[in-house]
Amino acid sequence: MVTATPLPLVGGVLCLDFVNTVDRMTHKPWVEHLTGYAELCAWSEHAGSLPQAQARALARRADERAARAVLARALALREACYRLFLALAEGRASAAADLAALNAELGPALGHLRLHAHDAGFEYAWERGAEALDAPLWPVARSAAELLASPRRALVKRCGSDTCLWLFLDETKNHQRRWCDMKVCGNRAKVRAHRARAARKLRRKGS
Ligand SMILES: [Zn+2]
Repeated sequence: MVTATPLPLVGGVLCLDFVNTVDRMTHKPWVEHLTGYAELCAWSEHAGSLPQAQARALARRADERAARAVLARALALREACYRLFLALAEGRASAAADLAALNAELGPALGHLRLHAHDAGFEYAWERGAEALDAPLWPVARSAAELLASPRRALVKRCGSDTCLWLFLDETKNHQRRWCDMKVCGNRAKVRAHRARAARKLRRKGS
């Protein structure tokens, strides 16, 4: 059962979309969407970080012990990124262990980065047709490192809902974005505010 593909991509950047592959709610148990290596590959295709053919070829190896080990690495990388970016969003210092966890994946990932020539010049691209099982981790590690090293890191925010721990990059013009997903958390807040207003009106009428 693949559960990661319907996830909305609201993080604004690959590494935060990856961080949001768990329903992180403060009031109920978190729901894990990356429940297997095949889900990790399916999500990578969904997020556009792996070409379809490569993602599907890798997913066919989901039952291998090595694939399960890569999933464990993916989850460790994701949680380290979550803590790093949450600390940023809350103005706290990052933990050395989390940075070390990211660096541990960044080194091997960048070893697969290549320069490709095209008509207009050159561009970075991942090794073509890579069969390495950890290929889904490479773009995520690079995305997280690039965001941390760029001034855009100041735009990382936690969702404005009290109960939602999803993260996103606020690149709106006035930096007023509040919700991970207007349709989910934004609407919930609107409904709550509407109910509170209606209750106040009712109380005024009754008094
Ligand atoms: Zn939210």
